[in-house]
Amino acid sequence: MSTDTDTVKPRRSPDKKAAAKKTAATKKAPANAGAGRKKAAARSKPVAQQVAARCEVLIIGAGFAGLGAAIRLRQQGIEDVIILERAGEVGGTWRDNTYPGAACDIPSNLYSFSFAQNPDWSRSFSGGPEILKYVHYLTDTYHLRPLIRFHENVASLSYDETRGVWRAVTGDKIFEGRSVIMAQGPLSNASLPDMPGIQTYQGHKIHSAMWDHDYDFTDKRVAVIGTGASGIQIIPELVKKAGFVKVFQRTPGWVLPRPDFQTPAWNRGLFRRFPASQDAMRKALFMFHESMALGIIWNSPLTRLIERIGKAHLRLQVKDRWLRRQLTPDFRIGCKRVLMSSDYYPALQKDNCKLITWPIARLSEKGIRTVEGIEHQFDCIVFATGFDVSHSGTPFPVSGIDGRQLNDEWSRGAQAYKSINVSGYPNLFMTFGPNSGPGHNSALVYMESQIDYAVRGIQALRDGNLKALNVKPDVQVAHNQAIQKRLAKTNWNSGCKSWYLTEDGFNATMYPGFATQFAKQMADLDLNDYELITAD
Ligand code: NAP
Repeated sequence: MSTDTDTVKPRRSPDKKAAAKKTAATKKAPANAGAGRKKAAARSKPVAQQVAARCEVLIIGAGFAGLGAAIRLRQQGIEDVIILERAGEVGGTWRDNTYPGAACDIPSNLYSFSFAQNPDWSRSFSGGPEILKYVHYLTDTYHLRPLIRFHENVASLSYDETRGVWRAVTGDKIFEGRSVIMAQGPLSNASLPDMPGIQTYQGHKIHSAMWDHDYDFTDKRVAVIGTGASGIQIIPELVKKAGFVKVFQRTPGWVLPRPDFQTPAWNRGLFRRFPASQDAMRKALFMFHESMALGIIWNSPLTRLIERIGKAHLRLQVKDRWLRRQLTPDFRIGCKRVLMSSDYYPALQKDNCKLITWPIARLSEKGIRTVEGIEHQFDCIVFATGFDVSHSGTPFPVSGIDGRQLNDEWSRGAQAYKSINVSGYPNLFMTFGPNSGPGHNSALVYMESQIDYAVRGIQALRDGNLKALNVKPDVQVAHNQAIQKRLAKTNWNSGCKSWYLTEDGFNATMYPGFATQFAKQMADLDLNDYELITAD
């Protein structure tokens, strides 16, 4: 048994609790919040660092979104770009999530950029290493490495309105850009849950997004806490190696079969020789996922049909009635992320695996104590418990015009215009910003349309010789009122608890519509929606 308390940091609960308290005041997020701005601005003011580099566009993060943005900017002739990356390699989520079994539950032909399709995917649902290889392929093919400054972790971002320049402060440097594309990812901060006794536990701790590849699971007594998208991929792999695995489930999710198969060689040859055939496949997959929106996003007869498929999948794979009952969800499908797996239920029924549904009371020195008083002892606890999601805050302080703080403005729930711009923060573009989450289709489809919108905005600055584009506050308010009204009718807002919602149920994460509607909204950059600040 070994001790590892440094691998992962405990969640910063005091901030979250404070945010939650504020949130409780109202469910409606304000366009602006002024209190505390000056104090916070002073806090984030850069001190005596040197400007390391200036550029036209600063991109934060070298994952799919940041790299995709750089490619599209360059394709439009915008070359003066710097990408700030906190790690030493590209890849974002696919660099960090290297747990055994990591794979995407969206077909690879759709989980890739439309402008850089890969005819050589080896499987219908490729694994993490192959997706990471694709990210490296993008980086090298589009010669992006020279743009990237590795090991530059952005600590704050502030707008100098006199000069019309954004300043990103990393450890000891300042990078300045006329525009910024925030592409740091919504699920990039892994943290241990705030569980009683978590510091007491003396065994090995591993978080799904910070896998310890040196730890040998052979014959070990292992606990997995969490049965979300990560947990259900990890469990079948651990069961193959560990002595025994106990799975601690808090809420059973809806699990649908995942039709994963090896891509036949003729298929890859066809895609290579006739790229139009891959285009057609991509479109077909896109339309299939779009049709799923009718049941996943909204409550409709299709919702019941998909639930029936989920129950039939459970019945087919789990014969034991009691286990089936323990695994049956009690919320509407779509409310939490729908899980896709054909090997999760079989893994749970292996002789060396056991599902525990008693709630966890606390972690003890040797393991996990459940509320009925049993102590389960383990060599290692795997936390597949999700991420620190900034619903009501920003990953680092962002200050805009007059020192206003995005953190303050978002304390009651994040909001933006079309998910990408926030009034008072000119020339700042976000990928995976508020209400851009997909529940039924590929995240990369949404990401691509955000990137293209940002590129159009940056192009407009150039073409109009403008200092800044600042979305009008009333336009942003009207947009969000419409979004929240539409969200009220979705399955996500139908009463379950998920990482899509803030503590008091405000949905700052998901887009309440088809991917086609999202792409249509992003295809149109209307300058009338913005205050245009001309260059001096
Ligand atoms: P998650 O969906 O947030 O699931 C976390 C799991 O941990 C849930 O089962 C949750 O239970 C449980 N949990 C959290 N805190 C707990 C506590 N204190 N005690 C007991 N159980 C606790 O996290 P994730 O599985 O890492 O997935 C996060 C997101 O990453 C997904 O929604 C998806 O967007 C993405 N992802 C995608 C893929 C893919 O294939 N594309 C794969 C992995 C992840 P409750 O349900 O009761 O809260």
